[in-house]
Amino acid sequence: MTDTIGWIGLGNMGIPMAKNLLEAGYTLNVYNRTASKAESLVNQGAALANSIQDLCAESDVVITMLSDDQAVKGLFLGEGGLLNCPVDGKLIINMSTVAPKTSYELEEMCKAVGARFLEAPVSGSVKPAEDGALIILAGGDEDNFRAAQPLFEKLGKLSFWLGSVGAGSSAKLAINYFLALTLEGLAETVLFAKKNGIKADDMLRIVNEGACGSPLTKLKTSAIVAGDFPAAFALKHMVKDLRLAREQGIDFPLAQPLAETYKKAMDKGLGEEDVMAIITYLETL
Ligand code: NAP
Repeated sequence: MTDTIGWIGLGNMGIPMAKNLLEAGYTLNVYNRTASKAESLVNQGAALANSIQDLCAESDVVITMLSDDQAVKGLFLGEGGLLNCPVDGKLIINMSTVAPKTSYELEEMCKAVGARFLEAPVSGSVKPAEDGALIILAGGDEDNFRAAQPLFEKLGKLSFWLGSVGAGSSAKLAINYFLALTLEGLAETVLFAKKNGIKADDMLRIVNEGACGSPLTKLKTSAIVAGDFPAAFALKHMVKDLRLAREQGIDFPLAQPLAETYKKAMDKGLGEEDVMAIITYLETL
């Protein structure tokens, strides 16, 4: 293993993912807008870059894991941004969830400065990120995917090459639509039962012991019972993903009310809580 990795974006996902690469033996340079979030990784041996320029100069592969399209574009294009750095011949992998259109644009911009680009958003939240058990949804040149595969093996249990750039983002928006539907369905089911005198933990047991139960419903059970939703996947990111899915053409009967419901929950101040806090919003209706 010779690659030195430059990791940009140390949020809920970025920290455990970067940690897995460090523990796998990669030399890791990290950069985050809020530098203090790098502390645990630096204590484990990562080098904190003072600028994106410094990170690029020292890294063969650069991975970005940021909140949304705006943050990613700003980081690539802004003053002192990635594409103004020495990236010629380097592989840049964006693992943030963004619109397929943003991925095409990033690929074109990377090509223009001689860099190789791969999109690789992930399915799975913080626990799979910690366990190196994400599902990685890659789109781009197949050679770039093959080059990234050794890294993906440390981050995920499965990495898919889905085709050209845009395919990975499209698959990611599709799986998150299912996630949004499932969590909304779970929340409404529990609240409907409660309204008719059934305790939440009894209803959740009925769900989890039966055919409707899934790793997801089981994962969210303790938070629902406790009524406490510290963010693994922040609700604001689901609002973003549903908006991107709508922009990408999803127009099924549930798509619009689903997107609007999560948006209203965010507007009520639940954006920084875990996506399961949708139940807190629904309970107020
Ligand atoms: P997060 O905890 O909100 O972290 C966001 C990261 O983006 C932080 O490092 C933040 O820097 C950085 N950032 C935000 N705006 C920025 C800007 N304008 N300029 C520079 N940096 C900026 O997000 P996350 O949960 O790690 O998710 C990251 C991506 O993965 C998102 O696209 C999300 O949709 C996707 N995703 C998340 C999950 C999940 O379960 N959490 C699962 C699958 C996919 P600061 O630290 O300075 O704020």
